[in-house]
Amino acid sequence: MSIKLSNNIHKITFDTLIVASHNPHKIEEIRSILSDFPVRILSLKELDWRVAHQEDGQSYYENAVKKAKAVVEHFGQPVLAEDSGLEVDALGGEPGIHSARYAGEGASDEANNQKLLAALSGVPASQRGARYRCTLVLMFPQGEVYSWEGTFEGRITCAPRGEGGFGYDPLFFVPEYGKTLAELGDEIKNKISHRARALAKLRKFFQNSC
Ligand code: IMP
Repeated sequence: MSIKLSNNIHKITFDTLIVASHNPHKIEEIRSILSDFPVRILSLKELDWRVAHQEDGQSYYENAVKKAKAVVEHFGQPVLAEDSGLEVDALGGEPGIHSARYAGEGASDEANNQKLLAALSGVPASQRGARYRCTLVLMFPQGEVYSWEGTFEGRITCAPRGEGGFGYDPLFFVPEYGKTLAELGDEIKNKISHRARALAKLRKFFQNSC
């Protein structure tokens, strides 16, 4: 089981990919979406290692590169990092790159969701448009860096609904299904989400490059 990558500079074969995240939900989603991908996916938890970095970049890409770089430098293996967030139109795109800590450093999902509902108090459904954005960075010890992005459009509800997913999913309404992502469950989420869309681009890249 391995993947070959050939480009003008390097010929790279790899059989292991480290996912540079401490978020168990993200890792589970990435594993599930890439379940048929011919590489072994390892999480930082399995490697018993924590990234000591601050998410202080000015963009999703910058943050993802930071995470990937720290892990590549430590393990010398190919690394997949991602940074993602929720962009709410009525809030000028906030919380965006600050989504994880919208209600403060170390805030719980519930606290972030409550802050979002309060910020949108009185805003009618027609103006509650939002999207999730995911930026993936694939970094190789040889120096190659690739990046893909996926977005997913929806609307912010007036109250949480559903038990699945994580983060803002109980508030993220998907008009095509008439449900929040937390109500839709992981199987459907992993086919349509921002993360699924970005990972589909990664998959296509490897299908075209071998
Ligand atoms: P980070 O990429 O680790 O900075 O965190 C991204 C943050 O964006 C998460 O903590 C969530 O608050 C939010 N987010 C990103 N993707 C999702 C998702 O698929 N569902 C719910 N919230 C998400």
